Amino acid sequence: MDYVDSLLDLIGNTPLVRLNKSTRGAPGTILAKVEYFNPGGSVKDRIATRMVEAAEQEGLLEPGGTIVEPTSGNTGVGLAMVAQQKGYHCIFVCPDKVSEDKRNVLKAYGADVVVCPTAVPPEHPDSYYSVSDRLVAETDGAWKPDQYSNPNNPRSHYETTGPELWEQTEGRITHFVAGIGTGGTVSGTGKYLKDKSDGRVQIVGADPHGSVYSGGTGRPYLVEGVGEDFWPQTYDRDICDRIIEISDKESFLTTRQLAREEAMLIGGSGGMAVAAAVRLAEDLQDPDAVIVVLLPDGGRGYLTKVFDDEWLGRYGFLPSDQERPVGEVLRRKDGSLP
Ligand code: PMP
Repeated sequence: MDYVDSLLDLIGNTPLVRLNKSTRGAPGTILAKVEYFNPGGSVKDRIATRMVEAAEQEGLLEPGGTIVEPTSGNTGVGLAMVAQQKGYHCIFVCPDKVSEDKRNVLKAYGADVVVCPTAVPPEHPDSYYSVSDRLVAETDGAWKPDQYSNPNNPRSHYETTGPELWEQTEGRITHFVAGIGTGGTVSGTGKYLKDKSDGRVQIVGADPHGSVYSGGTGRPYLVEGVGEDFWPQTYDRDICDRIIEISDKESFLTTRQLAREEAMLIGGSGGMAVAAAVRLAEDLQDPDAVIVVLLPDGGRGYLTKVFDDEWLGRYGFLPSDQERPVGEVLRRKDGSLP
């Protein structure tokens, strides 16, 4: 019989898929590491399992303990899944701007979600940072993974994502492109690939316009999961040979193209990374380049944003007339719907 003992055995070993039409004819090969194949639907399953196992080994998390983390996104899903399988309780703390759908995903795995007001400064007692610290202090057996400072975040990529890419490309990878949020993915994977290739593999960070990694001040941008307004400990500031800055508009239009041209329904940070990978290929003009770009998650969680014409139009991000939004194209000349 062919089966695994637990869903956790399916984390990692995600496929590499060649991008075809969306490379715009740039020379070289662009391969996508498709992380939505992880059982929790994102790259964050890798860090969730590694951070929890390390905490168990270090005695920070004991049987029946509680995981407390201020997150509402992919890391929450990864932690909730690992906690369910290992018998831990989870409390996630998130600001009230987080959609009810996202909170319900966490609850569906059996986690508790505490919602805090968005409109208060971080030092306020009701801020989600303060509340999560208080919950850790007041809950017996509580442990906070803190993905922004936990060395097991980049380590999980040094131990899994990096070796997978080296093997999958038979050592022929020349460039690795990834968005930077906590920096765990680019730092851990990048370090492994540098070590393995004696520094030959080039590491390229993709960053939203306005984020600190590309010299910004933290100015607001819309793409989720990447870019920061501070420098997290999990980011190795020496790892990137180059940082490519991508606008919200280009990130979102590329994300939509991936669905229509490669049948890959992905999140906006993946579109941002692909836009950077294509720009890199255009700059290199090297037919032997093997560029790997990491796609962190799937697009289902963004249907009412990136894939919604009205939402995109509100920010002036709609593509040119030839690529009019679906609703428009389907309309008859008199404006009625067929
Ligand atoms: N994209 C998405 C959707 C994410 O949730 C994250 C994690 N914050 C990233 C990209 C960036 O990954 P990392 O934190 O490893 O830099």
